[in-house]
Amino acid sequence: MTSSQPVTSGAEGLWRWRWLEFAKLASSKCYALKAAICRKLGRDGEAAELLQKLQNFGAKALRLPKDHCELMYGRCGYLHACLFALKFTTAKPAQFRSRMLDIVAQILEEGSGNRGIHSKAGLMYTWHNVCYLGASHGICGVLMTLLQCKEVLGALTRDPREAAEALRAVHRSIDVLLGATFPSGNLPSILGSPNDRLVQWCHGAPGLIPLLCSVIYTGADDGRGGITYSGGGPEMHTLLRDCLASAGDVIWARGLLKNGTGLCHGTAGNGYALLGLYRATGDERMLHRAEHFARWSMDHISRFAEGPDATYSLFEGLAGSVCFLLDVIQADSSLGFPGYDI
Ligand SMILES: [Zn+2]
Repeated sequence: MTSSQPVTSGAEGLWRWRWLEFAKLASSKCYALKAAICRKLGRDGEAAELLQKLQNFGAKALRLPKDHCELMYGRCGYLHACLFALKFTTAKPAQFRSRMLDIVAQILEEGSGNRGIHSKAGLMYTWHNVCYLGASHGICGVLMTLLQCKEVLGALTRDPREAAEALRAVHRSIDVLLGATFPSGNLPSILGSPNDRLVQWCHGAPGLIPLLCSVIYTGADDGRGGITYSGGGPEMHTLLRDCLASAGDVIWARGLLKNGTGLCHGTAGNGYALLGLYRATGDERMLHRAEHFARWSMDHISRFAEGPDATYSLFEGLAGSVCFLLDVIQADSSLGFPGYDI
């Protein structure tokens, strides 16, 4: 794109990309992406207008049904649009702080109301009355979004005591996820399900890895002598370390997928989980595994060209595969899973 091309009209079609469908609030991601492009092109006035539209769009997220908290169609999708804008535009946290905290408050309230689903959980979530655990529709995606918001906003609520309690609730739910994993290292798609089948970003261990890595990055501490994460290395809690290693092993064993080479339920998404593990732990075996996945993807890319629902899309198609291939060759500076590791 050149500086003379109209960004707004040119980007309208992008809402069809599945990544931009986080929430039925597709426009929120569209505004965030357009604002980032405008900033790159030096169109500061246009970027400011788009950021204002994104801010206003939060009203729709607040009006979503109570249980619409997940990443793909719920409130977390809007929060991710804000996080993206804060990272890739000139937007400042103060511009979105109030709206984001209001939405986080709704998510925390909904999660607290579902505590009865699991006795040890601080926050639980359902989507269409099913307690999904994975990244796209489940608890992994919600918790990761909350931790990313905490990092950007400084706290999850306006009240310091409530903020500390909210973070402890997030950690108790991470405990539940760690305890729910199969001996194989995989994570069930649904809480309590004995079905150890899917190993993909949207359902299974690949969606758990970014959350656990996010905990390492944020240096979170639940303050109760349970899981204490203080930045990785030798102080990483044994359970977390073992869980990450097992997740890496199950992806290595079962992560080359017939669904295609894309991000959501394809090999690239699993490769990104391995890359994330490498960046979080420094374990070079994980990088080598990711490189093998990249080679396999290149060898089979034509075989799967017509397979995904959206052949060229970022989330299911070729665009996501290309992102992964590029990130494998610059693993140490990779930005991570597009639209999720923000
Ligand atoms: Zn999927």
